[in-house]
Amino acid sequence: MPSLKSYNSFGLDVSCSQLARIKKNSDLSSFLNLDSNASFILGGGSNILLLNDLNKVVLKNEIKGKDIVKETAKHIFVRVGGGENWHNFVKWCIQRGYGGVENLSLIPGSVGASPMQNIGAYGVEIKDVFHSLEAIDLKTGRAKNFSKSSCQFGYRTSVFKTSLKGKYFISNVTFKLSKSPEFNLGYGAILNELDRLKVTKPSLKTVSKAIINIRNSKLPDPKLIGNAGSFFKNPIVSSKKCNQLLANFPNMPAYSNVPYRKKLSAGWLIQQTGWKGKAHKGAACYKNHALILINNKNAKGTDILELAEKIQKSVIDKFGVELSPEVNLIS
Ligand SMILES: Cc1cc2nc3c(=O)[nH]c(=O)nc-3n(C[C@H](O)[C@H](O)[C@H](O)COP(=O)(O)OP(=O)(O)OC[C@H]3O[C@@H](n4cnc5c(N)ncnc54)[C@H](O)[C@@H]3O)c2cc1C
Repeated sequence: MPSLKSYNSFGLDVSCSQLARIKKNSDLSSFLNLDSNASFILGGGSNILLLNDLNKVVLKNEIKGKDIVKETAKHIFVRVGGGENWHNFVKWCIQRGYGGVENLSLIPGSVGASPMQNIGAYGVEIKDVFHSLEAIDLKTGRAKNFSKSSCQFGYRTSVFKTSLKGKYFISNVTFKLSKSPEFNLGYGAILNELDRLKVTKPSLKTVSKAIINIRNSKLPDPKLIGNAGSFFKNPIVSSKKCNQLLANFPNMPAYSNVPYRKKLSAGWLIQQTGWKGKAHKGAACYKNHALILINNKNAKGTDILELAEKIQKSVIDKFGVELSPEVNLIS
């Protein structure tokens, strides 16, 4: 039974019945039309919580390649194998002067998983640079092209995280990148960090450097401390609910979302319940960032899940707000 310990960023020691390395679409042919629960698609393992040994074939995406498929006066279209490492792809774009993904520097994981939850950071989401993707139907083995609208991208979600979860293997993704980048610097501490770096005229390289510095100062390195980034999504509530909360908690951060809805900070809500820095069995809520749950000491997946459930309950009890996991729970 192969171990998945080095294939998940929580570092959980669980096994699977078979680990199949998929290097080209036809490698999937032996694993088609299995029972819906008999296989699991794995990228870099940086957004999963493995709850027990998996009685499944794990289909590890190792499809490589970066090809320029079209060029116009303003844009370049690059088709990237789903098994490419995301940050290596970002670096590749920066070296060539292709703009659009620099704010997504240092997000762990694979290109193939990036549309799954419409990865996002520092004011940019993958949908902003997405053109299309090819995915293999795990029932028939047929390749299907998905346009941006058919992916149904939303905040940390897509059709691949909802109705088509586990049904399609994303084999490659085509991005529409800009040949004359416009920088998105309005989010978080980017301008302060550029200032600190004494950058007066931002470039793809310096913006990426600023993002990497900010991320390194806040987030635990999964190689040293097992984690999967933000464990929960930021909850979105009605404006009415938000105003009721603000009456009792005037310092609560709240951001405008779609009309009549507000996005709250899950990290702030958790911090107010006192969980930041606290442990439960082998798991803990990271001392520097309440939204991150960590493998503190030989945790089992269930220790981390129990801690997540305790935090959810505390947040419901104090604020009446439900937190949903961003991380995919796998059993
Ligand atoms: C330190 C840290 C920081 C992070 N920061 C961010 C951040 O800023 N923004 C953000 O959005 N995310 C962030 N994440 C989460 C994570 O990096 C992303 O969600 C990433 O896209 C996951 O990629 P992966 O290849 O590791 O996916 P995996 O963890 O391997 O898989 C995640 C899910 O996608 C499915 N999947 C994977 N590959 C495919 C495929 N080819 N076809 C179909 N389904 C597939 C899997 O079955 C699983 O359900 C962070 C994680 C860590 C550890």
